[in-house]
Amino acid sequence: MSSNAIQKLKEYFERFPGIGPRQAQRFVYWLLNEDSQFTNELSGLLFELKRGVKQCGECFRFYTSNECRLCQDKSRDNSRLLVVEKDVDLENIEKTGIYSGHYFVLGDIVPLGQILPKNIRLKELFSRAEQEAKKGLKEIILAFNATAEGDNTIRYLEKILEPLAKKYSIKISGFGRGLSTGTELEYIDRDTLKNALENRK
Ligand SMILES: [Zn+2]
Repeated sequence: MSSNAIQKLKEYFERFPGIGPRQAQRFVYWLLNEDSQFTNELSGLLFELKRGVKQCGECFRFYTSNECRLCQDKSRDNSRLLVVEKDVDLENIEKTGIYSGHYFVLGDIVPLGQILPKNIRLKELFSRAEQEAKKGLKEIILAFNATAEGDNTIRYLEKILEPLAKKYSIKISGFGRGLSTGTELEYIDRDTLKNALENRK
């Protein structure tokens, strides 16, 4: 491995969420100490990752089965649409078994400076909500981290969805507001989640 490859890989790890330069460097040197079977398997998995995984055109989550089981499941509650930042948040809420409505993965949050990140699916959210409104949608639940950015995202989405909410009499509720400050949906436990869902406003 050339020093160029070390540097390059470090830069790639730095782009991972929550990873700084020092951690990125640790990852690279940790990998160098692993045997080649491990690194070969890892690179094989990375190669396969995008090929075996599809993204749902309705909720935008990633899935590996034939169809998105959440959007195609006819027994789910059509009256509710829950919006989250990322796949992990959706998985975490779904795992608790206390929510049976539909989902939408926004892809990012609205930062405080209000310069919108390029991966955020605002237009897609609006058209999904409109499409669901015609099928009996009664409530949109905005489920974001109990952080300043999460609050900001909720306020921003409320503004965007307001015309639709008025037109179709849809209730828009915020979810993170009942949580203690700093709570992240990715790490929340079942009881706290259940509480937040029941006490949404
Ligand atoms: Zn889906």
